[in-house]
Amino acid sequence: DPEADPVAMQYVPQLKELDQAAEELIDPIGDDAHSPVKGIVHRYPDRVLLQPVQVCAVYCRYCFRREKVGQHGQILNDNELEAALDYIRGNENIWEVILTGGDPFVLSPRQLTGLLQKLCAIDHVKIIRFHTRVPVADPARITLKLAEILKQAQELGKAIYVVIHINHARELGDDVHAALNMLKHAGCVILSQSVLLRGVNDNVEALENLFRTLIQIGIKPYYLHHLDYAPGTSHFRVSIEAGQELMRALQGRISGICLPTYMLDIPGGYGKIPLTPCYIDDDGAGGYKVQNYKREVFSYPPKGVEQP
Ligand SMILES: *Cc1c(COP(=O)(O)O)cnc(C)c1O
Ligand code: SF4
Repeated sequence: DPEADPVAMQYVPQLKELDQAAEELIDPIGDDAHSPVKGIVHRYPDRVLLQPVQVCAVYCRYCFRREKVGQHGQILNDNELEAALDYIRGNENIWEVILTGGDPFVLSPRQLTGLLQKLCAIDHVKIIRFHTRVPVADPARITLKLAEILKQAQELGKAIYVVIHINHARELGDDVHAALNMLKHAGCVILSQSVLLRGVNDNVEALENLFRTLIQIGIKPYYLHHLDYAPGTSHFRVSIEAGQELMRALQGRISGICLPTYMLDIPGGYGKIPLTPCYIDDDGAGGYKVQNYKREVFSYPPKGVEQP
């Protein structure tokens, strides 16, 4: 359905992309401001992004790195990768390495083996996290060979987390499910991240269905991202108020394990900001007004009850 297909809408270019709003930016989350060496973004003390490749299996029209990914087949060369790894080796605060890009799972098994062996040799790195769309966009790339590589990294003492990018339950076909099962059987913990997109998933039913479907196959929804200000993406934008309203509608309606955190990344590289709706307010008399999932308001501590 070219008018309203929630999967096609994510990938098929639209003329509306030519409308660029003044607040839209080439580098909407300030990656460049926090890049000490090529291929590394270091914003938080204990974790870095490592971007070995700027290629994806598929290009999302609303991508926050759309000015970077897929431009000219970029992959870090041997010297650049060594310099990036040296940065990690030399900084003992780095507890977690997040492989992103682009998409790290477009690397060949041989390239991934080499990279993981080097990361596994760094003592202070305990967690290796992949951010990927490959299991959803090209599940055939998740092979037994890849599963074996990920298993080996765990045998070398590292925990492996795979965070898949998925925005609609319709993206979760049998082949995707099978690919995810392979990763799970290889011992990876699988989480998901989604982007809140107008016309794709900006209604309670679509989000409920997506999060329930993920939890049913053992994947924990991690983040629901507010759309970044990438150029030509305003037709996908949902307001923060509408996003918070959707989170409120989901709270209580679906199991707590289904609920991701609604998250904003601001320009300039200052970090992520949770947009969780607020359920508590000062009552002006030393206590609080709190709201439950049915939007009933209560005093807390309860009025009239003696406090010790
Ligand atoms: C998003 C991001 C992370 C990961 O943040 P989490 O909240 O741990 O998922 C780490 N580094 C950078 C630069 C990021 O943009
Ligand atoms: S998979 Fe991620 S990095 Fe690649 S185009 Fe989509 S949003 Fe951008």
